[in-house]
Amino acid sequence: MSLIVQKYGGTSVANPDSLKIVAEKIISAKKEGKQVVVVVSAMGSSTDELIALANELSETPSPREMDMLLSAGERITMSLLAMHLNSLGYDSYSLTGSQAGIITTSRHGRAEIEKISGERVKEGLEKGSIVIVAGFQGFNPDTREITTLGRGGSDATAVALAASLGAEKCEIYTDVEGVFSADPRITDKAKLLKEITYDEMLEMASTGARVLMARSVEFGRRYNVPIIVRPTFSDGMGTTVKEQVMEQAIVSGVTHNDKEIKFTLFGVPDQPGIAGSVFGHLSDKGVNVDMIVQNVSKDSKTDISFTAPEEQKDEVMEILLHLTQDLKAEGSDKDENIARVSIIGAGMKSESGVASKMFKTLGSNEINIGMISTSPIRISCVISKNDMQKAIEVLHDEFIID
Ligand code: ASP
Ligand code: MG
Repeated sequence: MSLIVQKYGGTSVANPDSLKIVAEKIISAKKEGKQVVVVVSAMGSSTDELIALANELSETPSPREMDMLLSAGERITMSLLAMHLNSLGYDSYSLTGSQAGIITTSRHGRAEIEKISGERVKEGLEKGSIVIVAGFQGFNPDTREITTLGRGGSDATAVALAASLGAEKCEIYTDVEGVFSADPRITDKAKLLKEITYDEMLEMASTGARVLMARSVEFGRRYNVPIIVRPTFSDGMGTTVKEQVMEQAIVSGVTHNDKEIKFTLFGVPDQPGIAGSVFGHLSDKGVNVDMIVQNVSKDSKTDISFTAPEEQKDEVMEILLHLTQDLKAEGSDKDENIARVSIIGAGMKSESGVASKMFKTLGSNEINIGMISTSPIRISCVISKNDMQKAIEVLHDEFIID
């Protein structure tokens, strides 16, 4: 019998009416003769609400207690959904991450899935039950603690479960039609993509596309599980993420991220080991450094700039303050008025001139480029936040519409 994993995001399970629609979808898969495992997110924006509650009572809540708190969100959804399925005459039960045997690293708030035993999931499937698993959480056997996987982590739960159970596919149900060539809220020319490769989706997810958590795409790629991003509230076919697509575009998507800050360390001695020490300190503290630029050195001193998520601003500034003293640098600064725009496409591997076309397009629209980074299938530019909307529109016109 074929097995599928379905994941329903927060907006798909926001209230009882939505849960009833979700139950119909699950039942129709069941009626097609499939075994179904369902992964759920917390209802609506309840994770944000729990975080706000925590912040009202503590400025620095302990990461352990935060995980105890936030993992509760998904438990509410899973039990309500199982109850409803039961009331419709379907055998169903819910499991927390730890009951489902989702073993993670010990890092609270950002744990990574290491292994899934899934015994109680398999037991349920054998009995013909619909098994509902709480997304976004797991258990670390050494610390004996509940962990969470980071924002959007239910996607990772779903794809990892699909991989470990040998599911034929993992369906990610959401409030949009699928993956678009750009954010449809920014440009109404954005097109729904039928298919996209894991590599492209990974680059899209890590440069701002928020439909899928990047780590879930890594699982999909590693274990070759097709991931289908599709709408809960309509019958659209969505977007399939897989190894290879029929028609490979040169550029498949334009993404943006305006939630990063550019930090600069000025006048750092230009000596071996300095970059290692700077980025070593940052990574020890869990800072997610993204783009890095080191300038030409003058008088044996250089400036090092990098970008990092805005929510890590205070941590980064503190580290830079210490580093300035330790390395005898001249100072540090931050620029919050930046945005990053990226073009992504597996077809650019075998095409020349894509980067120059991107820079010319931005240049002829009076958009100044502050930093550049590339991968074989991505080119990113840091620009001013004020230019972001325009940059997305002109790049989308140039590379996708033409
Ligand atoms: N509820 C968690 C969040 O809001 C996990 C998820 O929805 O994927 O980030
Ligand atoms: Mg999500």
